Amino acid sequence: MTDALVAFLKARLDDDERVARACAGDGTWTVEDLEVYASDLSDDVRTQAARQDPARTLREVEAKRQLLDEHPDVNDGSCGTCVDGKWGYPTHGGSSPQPYPCRTLRLLALPYSDHPGYEKAWRP
Ligand SMILES: [Zn+2]
Repeated sequence: MTDALVAFLKARLDDDERVARACAGDGTWTVEDLEVYASDLSDDVRTQAARQDPARTLREVEAKRQLLDEHPDVNDGSCGTCVDGKWGYPTHGGSSPQPYPCRTLRLLALPYSDHPGYEKAWRP
């Protein structure tokens, strides 16, 4: 399950990046630009679409890839970053490492839960 979730996430991020680059994202999408192409959409729909500028998607993909790197499997089946919360700092023995994939990685995968490759067991 460990490698499957990470492989799934990397594939979804690759998909997001590919589609964003295909849209020639240049960070200049605006509500007014979108109105030219779809003037019958409501203001709310055009605003939502403009907020999904491919440049923003590419920034999100990069941030999520860095989050993946911040949560490595430390070979004993634990996340190298996350701990289960108990009173006290981990260095004082009050907490234990979260099993891998940790809750953070499961939450990163959650937006893709409608993808056919998403496994219900990954749900946080
Ligand atoms: Zn983690």
